[in-house]
Amino acid sequence: MVIDIKNYKKIVFFTGAGMSAESGVPTYRGSGGIWHKYNYEEFACQDAFDRHPQKVLDFHELRRKSVLECQPHNGHKFISELQKSHNYVTVVTQNIDGMHQRAGTENVIELHGSLWRLRCDDCSITIDDIGESFTNKKCKCGNYLRPDITWFGDMLNEKVIQQASEAIRNCDLFISIGTSGVVWPAAGFPQEAKSTGAYCVEINTERTELSGLFDEVIIGKASEVLTDLSFRT
Ligand code: NAD
Ligand code: ZN
Repeated sequence: MVIDIKNYKKIVFFTGAGMSAESGVPTYRGSGGIWHKYNYEEFACQDAFDRHPQKVLDFHELRRKSVLECQPHNGHKFISELQKSHNYVTVVTQNIDGMHQRAGTENVIELHGSLWRLRCDDCSITIDDIGESFTNKKCKCGNYLRPDITWFGDMLNEKVIQQASEAIRNCDLFISIGTSGVVWPAAGFPQEAKSTGAYCVEINTERTELSGLFDEVIIGKASEVLTDLSFRT
């Protein structure tokens, strides 16, 4: 089946860890996943940060370093090119690695925050900080700045979910890529897109629990399937 992208007015790409896998960023469920090696209770929750902020920040610097060693692939580039030539392309991602932005995509809706931002909850500020090391680990108020990431046990940012929902309800083509879709709100997105009439496509290296909801399931690697789509525009 051919997806003729020019037939659609509003396209949402919804991406998960599988989108970055070919760039070398390990997926969550895969065998090389980071939480097999590190205990998230020590490195990726508010409690850990409150107890040992420096240790948690050091760990996130390591993650930044390893992500900077990876490069966006042709699939990321395809999406950013499409955004330039198409009136309305929105990316909603669960990834925190910033790969879409590095490929040139704008206005990415990041459900789980970003490795490249810090925040101080007391001062209600967020600070962009791109690079291997954090420029400042402390806020002007004296608090340690915390990575602006949804850690284990954190609530998702309500405003960001609303933005994502709005984009998804308004789209007529919804393409989910490389997400197992087991975690809320990801699990509800295909249904949301479908209920408002979007054509729903899933791209994944294997079927997922949500595959049954999609109008079309394409089994394959994100970069290869997307590059193939580009021939059909
Ligand atoms: P997941 O690890 O649960 O699922 C990844 C999915 O991608 C799987 O269904 C797998 O079959 C598929 N996949 C693997 N390689 C692929 C490829 N080359 N092409 C297409 N599909 C491929 O990831 P998730 O659904 O995103 O949820 C896990 C959570 O972990 C998310 O909340 C996310 O925030 C976080 N996470 C983020 C990153 C990142 O920023 N890159 C990495 C790991 C985990
Ligand atoms: Zn502060």
